[in-house]
Amino acid sequence: MPANRALYEQVILEHNKKPRNFRPMPDADHKVEAYNPLCGDHFTVYVKMNGDRIEDVSFDGAGCAISKSSASVMTMLLKGKTKKEAEALFVKFHNMVTANPEAPIDEADIGKLCVFAGVREFPVRIKCATLAWHSMLAALDGRDDSVSTE
Ligand code: ZN
Repeated sequence: MPANRALYEQVILEHNKKPRNFRPMPDADHKVEAYNPLCGDHFTVYVKMNGDRIEDVSFDGAGCAISKSSASVMTMLLKGKTKKEAEALFVKFHNMVTANPEAPIDEADIGKLCVFAGVREFPVRIKCATLAWHSMLAALDGRDDSVSTE
């Protein structure tokens, strides 16, 4: 068991208890609903753009600790990023949570997202961890509808 495992869990629980950017956004440019029927996670992600840059991002709704904390960390990381940067970060995140549980984590590369490394051991949780990201990418593509993991 990695020594930083307890720290990771603490960060997830803290974000679950006090999610960042947890609010509706009445003047959002894009609004995408996200639903994970396997777990019951149900969020709405709001995005406000300034040209190609994400000026503001927020979410509301309800879900398990993994889905909620992942959405919270995502909103913190993506504010101020371009669409391309957001997509690149998602690829890294997705690669990490779907990797072999024994694979080493490059914390310097993945940054704050490393707290979700434990998800690799629970494949059913991958959908929880990536739910908000999928709706974010849909929003950035202008697909303002709803996304479901099913
Ligand atoms: Zn969940």
